[in-house]
Amino acid sequence: MKIVLQHLTKRFPARDKKGEDVIAVNDFDFEIPDGKLIGLLGPSGCGKSTALNLICGLLAPSSGRILFGDDDVTELPPENRGVGLVFQNYALYPHLTVRKNILFPLQNLKGDERPTKAEMEQRMLACARLVQIEPLLERRPKELSGGQQQRVAIARALVKRPRVLLLDEPLSNLDARLRLQTREEIRRIQRETGVTTVFVTHDQEEAMSISDLIVVMNAGVVQQIDRPQTVYDEPINQFVAQFLGTPPINLFSGRVRDGRLYLGEQCVLVVPGAEDGEVNVGIRPEGFVLDPEGPLGCELLAVEVMGRDTSVVFDHGARASSSLRAIIPSEERMHAGERSVRFSLKPSKVYLFDKVSGARIRFGGK
Ligand code: ADP
Ligand code: MG
Repeated sequence: MKIVLQHLTKRFPARDKKGEDVIAVNDFDFEIPDGKLIGLLGPSGCGKSTALNLICGLLAPSSGRILFGDDDVTELPPENRGVGLVFQNYALYPHLTVRKNILFPLQNLKGDERPTKAEMEQRMLACARLVQIEPLLERRPKELSGGQQQRVAIARALVKRPRVLLLDEPLSNLDARLRLQTREEIRRIQRETGVTTVFVTHDQEEAMSISDLIVVMNAGVVQQIDRPQTVYDEPINQFVAQFLGTPPINLFSGRVRDGRLYLGEQCVLVVPGAEDGEVNVGIRPEGFVLDPEGPLGCELLAVEVMGRDTSVVFDHGARASSSLRAIIPSEERMHAGERSVRFSLKPSKVYLFDKVSGARIRFGGK
């Protein structure tokens, strides 16, 4: 079931006269394709939960419309929209067993919608099997780990066969290892059921790893919608470039003159087509190549061995982020005791941004 958002806006009135209204969701106008998993990604407070609550009907929009397929659901109450919801805190009924927690939404159905007892049992078992908690059906939530509780919450969301599955930071309460495992599980479950899914997270790595498409948002405004790799490789602006990637992109203040990019006095790259002037420069950590003849000379601060890679911490007079870090293959030996390091740059890993708007400045025909 595709989800269509048409100029969807949610404005919260100011708490007092002096305050300003908060536009938590600002003119969302895009389609979520049928059967895909969409990652809604952005910093805390950017409006992710508000967007999700609009889609499920817990909040009414200030303006705009929401369609599921061809059905306009804008005025429908949540229980009639056919959505499954999973939140950060699993919100299971503590006094009910896993079995009864999963059955609960079915037992609440009325009239024609209510399946027979045998059907309920069958659907409960199918969902328990899907999320791999079948052996735990007679336990109560407090007898389960966080990851297991979240699986139960997912089973409970799926048992009504929702048209749309909505997950709001579902992994945030889990420890690191369980987070990895559970996100793979969610991906598998989504593939197996083919249910259109919106997955909200502030964690860029999580969004990258799990999503078919990522919607990056900031302060209520959609910045970019693309496949994860495209968002990383072709960020539309400085915000997106900075939000994705670990370690984060390195920032410099630079200058373009006659199709060449300068960091301080060093001419570090040819940037054909870019206009003369001051620019912000973003360079991905993997964009630096150790090169004794390279144009970018830096002060070497530290070399951190990480196994597969080596992380080189350095400084430069044109630095604009709090630190600078290059990631190089661990086979490349750094000499102990060096105080400086030289790099050449991979052009595809260098991005120019407008100093004021942060918009990407293209060069070299890309
Ligand atoms: P996120 O989930 O991305 O962290 P939210 O959607 O929860 O962000 O919040 C977006 C913005 O809307 C925030 O500035 C928040 O303070 C504001 N907000 C959320 N809910 C309400 C509300 N009920 N009343 C007023 N402001 C709200
Ligand atoms: Mg939230």
